[in-house]
Amino acid sequence: MKRAAALTALLLFSPALAASYTVQPGDTLWRIAQANGTTVTALQTANGLSGSALSVGQVLQLPGTAAATPVSPAAPNPASSTATSPTSGASLPGVQVQAPARVKEGDAFVLRLSGQNAGRVRVRFPSELDEDVRRPNEWLSPVQVGGQWAVLGRVVLGQSAPVRFEVELDGQSSAGQVPVGPLGQPVQNLNMPASIAAVLQDPRRAEETAAVEKAYELRGAPMWTEPFANAIANGRRSSGFGQPRRERAGAKINYHYGMDYSAPKGTRVQAVNLGRVVLAANYPVRGGLVVLDHGAGLLSLYFHLSKIDVKPGQSVSRGQKIGEVGSTGYSTGPHLHLEMRLRGEAVDPARWVGNLLP
Ligand SMILES: [Zn+2]
Repeated sequence: MKRAAALTALLLFSPALAASYTVQPGDTLWRIAQANGTTVTALQTANGLSGSALSVGQVLQLPGTAAATPVSPAAPNPASSTATSPTSGASLPGVQVQAPARVKEGDAFVLRLSGQNAGRVRVRFPSELDEDVRRPNEWLSPVQVGGQWAVLGRVVLGQSAPVRFEVELDGQSSAGQVPVGPLGQPVQNLNMPASIAAVLQDPRRAEETAAVEKAYELRGAPMWTEPFANAIANGRRSSGFGQPRRERAGAKINYHYGMDYSAPKGTRVQAVNLGRVVLAANYPVRGGLVVLDHGAGLLSLYFHLSKIDVKPGQSVSRGQKIGEVGSTGYSTGPHLHLEMRLRGEAVDPARWVGNLLP
C-alpha cells in the first residue's frame, strides 16, 4: 500500500511520461510488474536488464503505465526570485523527484531523486518560512544513502499546513507539496514534583541549551550505510514521541520530542547507527547526555544516563555501547529518552528503526 501511494505522488520533471520506481527490500521484478500493471519482460526491456537481479535503491523506469498524478505546483514563494512554475515536464532536465503521498506531524521524510542530474540539484522547503524552525528554507544538497540520492525533510510537531518543496537545477526551479496529517494524541498532564521541576530553573541550563543548539548546526556527509538499530534491546516504550503535555494543569502545551523506554538503571544503551560523539556530559535537564552526529544534519540524543562510556570526538559503530540507563536530570524514574533531530527539529525515532531512510 505504501508503495502504491508513493507512486501516485511521483513528481515528473523529465521525461514527461516515464514513471519510475525505487527497489525496496524484498522486491522482485514479478512483484513490481504486478503492482504496476506491466510485465517482467517489459520491465527488463525498459531498463536494459538481462536477468532478474535487483538491488535495493535501484531506480527502475516503469513502461506502459498511465502517467502518474503530478502534485500541484506550490504557490510561488515571494522570497524567491528563481521560482517558476513547472509548465513543462522538461523544466528540470534529467531529474525525477519522488515525494511521499502524505506525511504526518513529527515525520522525517525523503524526497528521492533519480536521473542523470539528480546529484546536481538544490532543494529547499519554502513552507518552513511560516514555521518556528531552525534555519528555515535553507538550500540542501542531495545526499547519497544506499546508492540513492535523497533529500531529508522534516515536519515539525504542531505543524499541519502542507510541506512545500522547491527543486532547483541550473537556475530553473520546480515545486511540489505534500499534505500533512495530525498525530492525534490527547494532552497529558505531567504533574512533575516541585523538586524535579526545579531543574528547569537551573542557571546552567543556558549552557546546556547552547551546547545542543550548536550540535543542531552540523551538516556533514551521511556516515551510515546500514539501517538504524534500537537504542536499547528490551526497553518497554513508556511514553510516545510527539505526545502533547503540560508540566501541570493550566500550563502551556509542550511536545514530547523523543521516545521513552522504561528500563532498569544500568541497562545498556547503544548507538542507533554509525556516528561521531558530539556531546558526552552531564546537564541539568537532559542529565547524563550523549549526542551522536550521523551526518546529513541527523543527530541521535540519549538522555538521563547514569553512566557515559564515550568521549566527544570519538567515532562509534552501530550497536556500540555508549552508556547506561539512569534517571538523571528532569526525570522521575529510570528510563531512556531517545531523540532523533533532523537539522535541529525532533522527528519520530520509530520511523528510522530498521530503515536506512525514514
Ligand atoms: Zn522523554
